Amino acid sequence: MDIKRTSIKDLLQSNDFDKSVLIKGWVRTKRGNKNIAFIAVNDGSTIHNIQAVIDVPAFEEDLLKKITTGASLEISGTLVQSSGQGQSIEIQADNIVLYGEADPDTYPLQKKGHSMEFLREIAHLRFRTNTFGAVFRIRHALSFAIHKYFNDKGFFNIHSPIITSSDAEGAGEMFRVTTLDPAKPPLNDKKEVDFSQDFFARPTNLTVSGQLEAELGALALGGVYTFGPTFRAENSNTPRHLAEFWMIEPEVAFNDINDNMDLAEEFLKYLIKYALDNCKDDIEFLNNMVDKELINRLKSVAEVDFVRLSYTDAIKVLEKADQKFEFPVSWGVDLQSEHERYLVEKHYKKPVILSDYPKEIKAFYMKQNDDGKTVRAMDVLFPRIGEIIGGSQREEVMEKLLTRIREMNLPEEELWWFLDTRRYGTVVHSGFGLGFERLMLFVTGMTNIRDVIPFPRTPRNAEF
Ligand code: ATP
Ligand code: MN
Repeated sequence: MDIKRTSIKDLLQSNDFDKSVLIKGWVRTKRGNKNIAFIAVNDGSTIHNIQAVIDVPAFEEDLLKKITTGASLEISGTLVQSSGQGQSIEIQADNIVLYGEADPDTYPLQKKGHSMEFLREIAHLRFRTNTFGAVFRIRHALSFAIHKYFNDKGFFNIHSPIITSSDAEGAGEMFRVTTLDPAKPPLNDKKEVDFSQDFFARPTNLTVSGQLEAELGALALGGVYTFGPTFRAENSNTPRHLAEFWMIEPEVAFNDINDNMDLAEEFLKYLIKYALDNCKDDIEFLNNMVDKELINRLKSVAEVDFVRLSYTDAIKVLEKADQKFEFPVSWGVDLQSEHERYLVEKHYKKPVILSDYPKEIKAFYMKQNDDGKTVRAMDVLFPRIGEIIGGSQREEVMEKLLTRIREMNLPEEELWWFLDTRRYGTVVHSGFGLGFERLMLFVTGMTNIRDVIPFPRTPRNAEF
């Protein structure tokens, strides 16, 4: 009788001893002697391997020789209670089918303990390591949890466009999307590129944010969120920036900035708790191998009340700080990550939500305060990460929004569709953007953002 394949995750949780089982996977290690061999197999369903015990004389020597780290195979046998240390269940192997060999002389993951930098150069194979297996299982779980959180709250997922023509957001440099020939683009009378002959008959770019479109949805559906790829062509080679990253952007009608802060705090805590409850084995592995403080940090952030503080008060704290900053601080400057991390890690020792920033350093759509100087922006700052969320209450009053658009010399005509929301049935509303990979950095304890997305896009790097 043919036996069906069982996932290693399910097998390790079962206690169907003396039952015939069949697993398929990749060899992690093989050890043993002339009489008995032990093969550790992983199939990606869990961080844990299952051990198969091989009665060496009962198998062809040639077959066993080809079973090396990285080879793929199927093993069937009997599930038994293990007498060895380190596992409680193992398979007493009856039959092995080798699928694909992995030549030990060339297989790059033959040995353990490679550096993260080296593994980035073999991003096509790094999925097969324990660390990246754990990271990408957690990435899946968090992605699922994000949809679950919003679905349970009655929000609707909006698919905002990836190709856009609006460049009014000012969120950073953009990647152009065009079908024109870069070597000889059509020119107009003024010898400028004639975009009327381009695919969309106008200049287009990859989106830097789905917010403006999410606002349109929120003003009809109430609570919406986007969760999609986002592109920024900034030439910033930092451990916290990617050229292509994923952003979650909730937008909620009738929410003011305080509701927005409540949502951001509840959402982040939910996701951290979800990971602690549902990714226990992977997080424990990362806690042991990558960052010994990980679980403590996750638990403390999931429980503590975030500090809420105005930008103006934060500047006062920073001016009194017993630390010299590379970038000096005074009211009006944009905070650098060294300032954000001082507030979170040294001064308050918990996450901080900063609000009411100077209007000059924030986007045109943010709600203007009565002081004429600040806007209802809010950034959530996290230990090790700095800014994890940026958001605001939006300016819903047509005249005020128009004044700001004109002051900032933005293309008013191109924003007619956005302005229509203020023209017809405008309401108070708020939203924010959470960088998915920044959340991943926090939850996994990894230190470089290139190691929490399968195929990182950064300046001069898009090979895989
Ligand atoms: P930063 O100041 O850290 O560069 P930002 O202020 O430009 O970020 P926003 O425009 O507010 O970022 O975007 C919202 C969120 O998206 C940020 O809080 C961050 O979590 C994430 N994010 C922004 N830029 C990047 C990037 N280049 N790579 C990865 N995540 C990013
Ligand atoms: Mn920001």
